[in-house]
Amino acid sequence: MSCRIGSPNATQRDAMTAELLLSRLKHVRATGPASWRADCPNGHTKARGSLAVTESADGTVLLHCFACSDVHGILSAVGLEVADLFPERIKDTSPEARQRAREALKRTAWAAALRVLSRETCVVNAAAGWLRQRKTLED
Ligand SMILES: [Zn+2]
Repeated sequence: MSCRIGSPNATQRDAMTAELLLSRLKHVRATGPASWRADCPNGHTKARGSLAVTESADGTVLLHCFACSDVHGILSAVGLEVADLFPERIKDTSPEARQRAREALKRTAWAAALRVLSRETCVVNAAAGWLRQRKTLED
């Protein structure tokens, strides 16, 4: 898939892939088959590795910064919009449909954050097990 960036004609928008977003980020590292961590481009301190990016099975790109949580600021910093995260453009622009889209965005952002927290909880749990056995922690 490709993505039109910067054109004012939204009806010609193609779906974005995580690859396009990742190509605009620094210090990207894979954390799973369709998930990555990168530096947040939003211009705050503690940006190193704070941005989690996941591509869902339907092609939706999910992102969450553990330092700023500012999805709009993050996307603006790399020349993208929230609508670029979804595989298809929202056709229904009624207030109800826009509300549903906002709620879906919140759910997906929280889902991505919870997946990362779950993974990091496993790491902390493993480290606690090593410390309980009086073993030293190494990289
Ligand atoms: Zn951030």
